[in-house]
Amino acid sequence: LVPNYLFADVAKKTNAYIAAHPDKKVIKLGIGDVTLPLAPVVVEAMKKGAEDLAHKETFKGYPDYEGYEFLRQAISDYYKSFGVAVGADEIFVSDGAKSDCGNIGDIFSKDNIVLVTDPVYPVYVDSNIMAGREIVYATSNEANGFAALPDENVKADIIYLCSPNNPTGSAYNAEQLKAWVDYALKNDAIILYDSAYEAFITEDLPRSIFAIEGARKCAIEMCSLSKTAGFTGTRCGYTVIPKELERDGHNIYATWYRRQATKFNGVSWPVQCAAAAVFSEEGQKQIKENISYYQENARIIASALDELGIYYTGGKNSPYIWLKCPNNMGSWEFFDLLLNEANVVGTPGEGFGENGAGYFRLTSFGDRENTIEAVERIKKVLTNLSK
Ligand code: PLP
Repeated sequence: LVPNYLFADVAKKTNAYIAAHPDKKVIKLGIGDVTLPLAPVVVEAMKKGAEDLAHKETFKGYPDYEGYEFLRQAISDYYKSFGVAVGADEIFVSDGAKSDCGNIGDIFSKDNIVLVTDPVYPVYVDSNIMAGREIVYATSNEANGFAALPDENVKADIIYLCSPNNPTGSAYNAEQLKAWVDYALKNDAIILYDSAYEAFITEDLPRSIFAIEGARKCAIEMCSLSKTAGFTGTRCGYTVIPKELERDGHNIYATWYRRQATKFNGVSWPVQCAAAAVFSEEGQKQIKENISYYQENARIIASALDELGIYYTGGKNSPYIWLKCPNNMGSWEFFDLLLNEANVVGTPGEGFGENGAGYFRLTSFGDRENTIEAVERIKKVLTNLSK
């Protein structure tokens, strides 16, 4: 396990610049955290949940390991709203997708070969290095629109897919996901599908791996309310395991239940109340306003890149924009250029894997005014560069 210097180095360089140029306004378009507050109905539900804990009659102790039934039912109904059948009894409520992505390895033996697409959300790689597993990489690049597809010659037992993808913003269509499902079924592999950004999908693309035929026999899905509803600090997510999913005579739902009962004591009552409010009619309306705000930021960034003729993926079905550094610059070279000339901070792509070298990630989680200002500055610097 090697130290990840990327985010520390970004912070170090940014802070040094700010210290040396206190008069400059530096805009951060590298942040992966949300900036808009929780929706009002969510806050009300959380307050009411907290109040329940103040009275003997409504007090709650340890929650169910898999989450309260009312929340699991609300999540199941949410899946139904986009045409996917997932039972409330197939859902585990958790404190977020990072924990579930990192912990799910507990139920798989060490000798399983793990496949990740590169560039990759680092949690999949680091958690499996910690577990001592071998990792193989599927290449995401310009040729496949930064959405890697399976290679029949590669053997893998556990496959992490993330769509819409962090960091590349690419999103698989149904045909591409079917290729992964067919590969998993053929290889007796299990897909760990991270759908943390499904709420950002605007085109006619699958919102869940379970929209794909055969997925119930080879996939687990993890999702999160972090980006969907601003729960990055509140902490709530969910994992779906079809009841019929089995490997080597083990039922995967039952095995994960056993793992959770051993190492996890559930999500607090106020947070589960707040999470259920996200799935109410009013909750959906309110969170969609916030998502639209970020989507518009993404559109603003993407249309500037269109104007400049710069290759990028994402921006449409994702809060991330993954762009090719102009003039064949390296990721850090481009980082320095944007910081020094435009006073804008992004994330060098090489921090997400080998195939990220020469690419750069911008995010749409900032506020509108700053996003517009940052984009204008970037346009100016890059236009001068090409003169
Ligand atoms: N999965 C992906 C792909 C992410 O980008 C993130 C957060 O950035 C997470 C999971 C973490 O989600 P959570 O906040 O629910 O732990």
